[in-house]
Amino acid sequence: MFKKILIANRGEIALRVVRAAREMGVATVAVHSTADADAMHVRMADESICIGPAPGSQSYLSIPAIISACEISGAEAIHPGYGFLSENAQFVQIVQDHDLTFIGPTADHIRVMGDKITAKETMKNLGVPVVPGSEGGVPDLEAAQALGDEMGYPVIVKATAGGGGRGMKLARTAADMANAFRTARSEAKAAFGNDEVYIEKYLGRPRHIEVQVFGDGKGNAVHLGERDCSLQRRHQKVFEEAPGPAITPEQRAEIGRTCAEAVAAINYAGAGTIEFLCEDGNFYFIEMNTRLQVEHPVTEAIFGVDLVREQIRVAAGYPMSFAQDDLTINGHAIEVRINAEKLPNFSPSPGRITQYHAPGGLGVRMDSALYDGYSIPPYYDSLIGKLIVHGRDRREALARLHRCLGEIIVDGVDTTIPLFRALVEEQDIQTGDYTIHWLEKWLEENL
Ligand code: ADP
Repeated sequence: MFKKILIANRGEIALRVVRAAREMGVATVAVHSTADADAMHVRMADESICIGPAPGSQSYLSIPAIISACEISGAEAIHPGYGFLSENAQFVQIVQDHDLTFIGPTADHIRVMGDKITAKETMKNLGVPVVPGSEGGVPDLEAAQALGDEMGYPVIVKATAGGGGRGMKLARTAADMANAFRTARSEAKAAFGNDEVYIEKYLGRPRHIEVQVFGDGKGNAVHLGERDCSLQRRHQKVFEEAPGPAITPEQRAEIGRTCAEAVAAINYAGAGTIEFLCEDGNFYFIEMNTRLQVEHPVTEAIFGVDLVREQIRVAAGYPMSFAQDDLTINGHAIEVRINAEKLPNFSPSPGRITQYHAPGGLGVRMDSALYDGYSIPPYYDSLIGKLIVHGRDRREALARLHRCLGEIIVDGVDTTIPLFRALVEEQDIQTGDYTIHWLEKWLEENL
């Protein structure tokens, strides 16, 4: 096993990795920007190294600084968390070239899945059902219009390099196509430096269902069921649950097996998520994320496994500690993403936390890097905590969520907590009757 690993991240996910490593007897090195000198991950890790100034581009995204920190500290492996360098194939290659271990899949797998067109082609060839759409990239507006007419509207124009909901534009009718095509392209160019786009049939009322997979890199892989992440704002998840309230055990077994077989066939290593839109019982692949997801704790809760521990074990060359038959679902879990954002516009709300009180008790997990007196810097993501509840069934999980939202205190900045207090009262949330469009509509009507 590794003696020491470096965590190339910050915030709650850096703490999450420290916790798993510590339980395994693995020492941790935190890296941080000057703005994060007082951050919780720096305090909790065994060692810490300042790697640059506040902007992420000069610190958490600085490959030379992170490699140097490994060499100075003697860390043997790097856990990337999510975001930052977690899906950067070039980084993985550089890590390996320095005889260090990347805790995650290979550079090749990251590259293939990081490009949504090649990801879709690969998955299709592996027998995974995909959203109907263009074969590969769409070179120009004429081709886009021809395809739209052939497929029938509405269609969605998406950036192959896309992520975080950017570079995605809906064309409801043929008249929208020119605008959708041009804006998707220019947004993609600006955000990702790659303006290649492709076209998909726009699904009108799907749920976002994603399958957690895990592979050992040697042809063995399992699935850990699905998460329903349909409650989204601007294509970004805000509330996630497992198991999916609208997925039957038969559907789970079938799509799960398809996904596990697909990743086993490519010798995938570590944690991955295969995302689908699900409508009328049919699954349509949209993308694969080759990393740990923000919402992984709901899966951990219902399966009773530690995915980060498993990632570290497999990266160190150990076999997976579970086989498919060992994995059974116990109860129901829900996560809500607590962001430092001001409603109704969700504008960032950095600042000093004057009082923080985490909820507790049976079936409650609070993953957060907050503490009393902490100042949330304005430079990074607005996620400041994840409240995860686990119950014997969905009803109990919801009652627990309701109870926890009454206990939690985050004073000093605006947060999305009031949004969740309102959502748990909603009939559709209580019955699980929602699609990917439900929240946007609710926000329009209620905020
Ligand atoms: P990103 O990588 O930017 O998150 P995804 O391809 O994962 O982009 O899509 C994010 C979200 O956008 C989905 O969860 C869904 O809400 C919406 N979306 C994507 N593709 C489609 C589609 N073909 N039809 C309807 N909604 C879609």
